[in-house]
Parts: sequence; structure tokens; C-alpha cells
Amino acid sequence: MWGPVAICLSCLLWGGALAQGGATLRRANDRNARCHYTFTVPSPAEDTCPPAGPDPQIEGLTARLGLLEALVGRLVGGAAEEGGGLQAAYSQALKEKTELQRDKEQLDRQAQELQRSVDTLRRENERLRARQCGPASSNLQDSHQRPPSDPAWQFGYQELKAEVTEMPASRFVQQGVPPSPDSFAGSKGCGELVWVGEPRTHRKADSIAGKYGVWMQDPEPAAPYSAEMVWRVDTVGSEVRQLFGYEDETQLARGFPTKVLLLPEPMESTGAVLYRGSLYYQRRRSRTLLRYSLATESVAARRELPHAGFHGQYPYSWGGYTDIDLAVDETGLWAIYSTSKARGAIVLSLLDPDTLEVKRSWETNIRKQSVANAFVICGTLYTVASYSAPDTAVTHSFSTASGTAKELAVPFRNRYRYNSMVDYNPRTRKLYAWDNFHMVSYNLRLEGD
Ligand code: CA
Repeated sequence: MWGPVAICLSCLLWGGALAQGGATLRRANDRNARCHYTFTVPSPAEDTCPPAGPDPQIEGLTARLGLLEALVGRLVGGAAEEGGGLQAAYSQALKEKTELQRDKEQLDRQAQELQRSVDTLRRENERLRARQCGPASSNLQDSHQRPPSDPAWQFGYQELKAEVTEMPASRFVQQGVPPSPDSFAGSKGCGELVWVGEPRTHRKADSIAGKYGVWMQDPEPAAPYSAEMVWRVDTVGSEVRQLFGYEDETQLARGFPTKVLLLPEPMESTGAVLYRGSLYYQRRRSRTLLRYSLATESVAARRELPHAGFHGQYPYSWGGYTDIDLAVDETGLWAIYSTSKARGAIVLSLLDPDTLEVKRSWETNIRKQSVANAFVICGTLYTVASYSAPDTAVTHSFSTASGTAKELAVPFRNRYRYNSMVDYNPRTRKLYAWDNFHMVSYNLRLEGD
């Protein structure tokens, strides 16, 4: 192998500069007198040398790489930014949810406060309405005296009025205006009573227990009984507890009851009424009112009638412990009675039929013991002058709408001369009465009918 090397070295030595196949070899001394050999070979691919400076391809690649780096950077940064936006939105939603919850709680509190305000305003309104009418007055004079003899004594039935005892001053009597009679549903009209027909006899009681009594139909019946059902209680005796039911007037006339109910507590007076499926009556020797449900055959409500006289303190003129007389009309359930504060004058109270609470009261100047009986039509109280005179009259009225009394002269006939009960039925628009063993009814007419 040393042969070629020797040849090359010989060439160099001979020529000082030798060109061979395009290749050149140069020899020169540098400034330090040292010899330098430069061997040059032409490029097989390039005719000329590329210009001096950066390579455009490299620069292009570098620029593209920079763009790619920037793009990747933006994408990475954008993704991070987008993630941050979702987090912020979620936090905002949580915040709004909390605020909405807080607003809801505040609105709930405001609704409760408004409801309390409404209740307060309603009570205040009722109180103001009750003050609008001053104490009702009546200039009517007592014109009917208790008869010297009382046939009831022959039956051993205590009817004489008891001594009036003083009771605490009544504070419950309010003056007010009842619902407008014009709004009464189902009524033909609510004018003043102008005519009472001749009594129609339906049945005569079989025994002495039926000298006095009460009979009626429910103006607003409830299942399982119909409006045609007739109810009857013979009230002579100290243990009045039997309530007889008849399918209709025909069965009453025949004397065939289809239902006999035993009241859980004894009844007093002839003032019982039927209303909305319940029998309302006064418990014996008390001012307690009872609501006896016909459907459940049990006492559904009981309540004392505040300050009401009972057991002979303020009966009707015939006695009979008729201190508390209940009535039903287009308005609702009423109690006709008196108190020591009213000094024997009739007090008229509208009762809550569910609870028996007094909703509103009116005090009249009609002495209870001076009249034979009373009933209510369209919120107006009417009184019958005599229980025994064959030809008597409805002589007093008291309108709860106006708070005023009036004298009337509507003829009224006591065919059997001992009328112990008179009541109005707003459905049949008749008077029901118990006249000396006889169950009778009266047609009537109101002004405008
Ligand atoms: Ca009555």
C-alpha cells in the first residue's frame, strides 16, 4: 500500500502545484514560513458554490417550525383558557343558585307576612263592620202577658219561669250587618213577611208526650237522608231523647217512622232544628248546644251559648223551658235567647254550624217572655204574639240587616190553641209548628213574592 502514497508524494514534490482530473493541489507558506497544502475537488452536483449566508431551506424550516410552535402554544393556551372559562361558569351558576335560594326563602317569608297581614285586615274589617251599626233599639212595648193558668202543669212539666239571677255582664254581643239577603241562594225573594196562611195539619201525636214537640225537615239535607225526610221529637218529659224519622210527610201522617235514633244526651225546649245533616239542640238543664250528626249518630260538636239563660230564666210566654230557641233561614243557623245583660230582651246570634261558635249577635228590645214564639226569615226575626189565642198575629220583626225593629200585624192562627213551636224552613218556605199535639204547617208570602 505504500506504493500509491509514494507516487502522490512524488507528484507534489515535482510540481509544487499539480492539477489532476479537476482536482488541484496547492502548496504555499504562511506568514510563519510554514508550508500549507490545499487539495481541491469540484462538486459533482453543484456548478457553483452556493452564496454565502443562511440556508433558505433551513430558514423556511425554521419559520415553519416557529409557526407550528406558536400554533401549538395557542392551542394549549386556548384549551387551558377554555377550561378556566368552564370553571368560572360553574362557579357563577353555583353563586346564582345560592342567590335564588336566598330570594326564595325571602319571598316565602314575605308571603307568610302578607298572609298574616290579610288575616289581621280581615279581622279589623269585621270589627269595623260590627261597629257600623249602633245598638239596635226598639220602641215596641210588651203587650202580651203570660196567661194566669198554664195547662202544662197538668202533665207535671215544669214550665214556670225561674227567678232571674244576675250573671256577669255580657261582653259578647256585637252589632253588625249580616250577609245581604239578596245573595241568598235559591230563595225567591227576601221581602218582609206579609201573609201567613191557614195551618195545615199533618199528624196528631199519639201520647201525652206529644202535647209539645218539634218537627222539621232539613233544608240542606246530607246523606244518607233526603230533603223529604221528616223528623220529630215529642218533648214532654225530663228525658227527651227519641228522634223519630219518617220517609216523607205521608209516612208521618200514617205514623210509621223508618228511623228511631236515641240521642246520647237529653234535650230541652222545643227549639231544636235540623240543618246540613245534623240535629242542633239544647242539652237539658244547661246552656250547652249540641250538634248531633245523623250520619254518624254521634255528637259532632258541643259548645255553651255564652251567658244564655236556660231552664226557665227566659222562656217564651208559654214556658216549656223554651229559653233557647234555634232557627234556620237562608243565612244559616241562629239562636234566639236572652241574657241578664239584655234583661230578658231577645238576643239573636248567628252561629257557626260546624263549631257552634257565635259569629255575630244582635240585641233587640223585644222581651222574650212577652211573645209566644219566634222564627227567622232572610235574617229578620219575627215573633208571634200569643200561643193560645185562635186568632193572633205576627207583631214584631227585627231586621239584622238594618238593626231596626218594626211592628207588624200579620194574622196568625192557633187552630188548636196551644202552640209550642214555630220554625221556618228556607227550602220549603213554610212555617212548621206544633200546636197542642198537632204537627201543622203554614204557607207564607213575603213582600215581592
Ligand atoms: Ca222557634
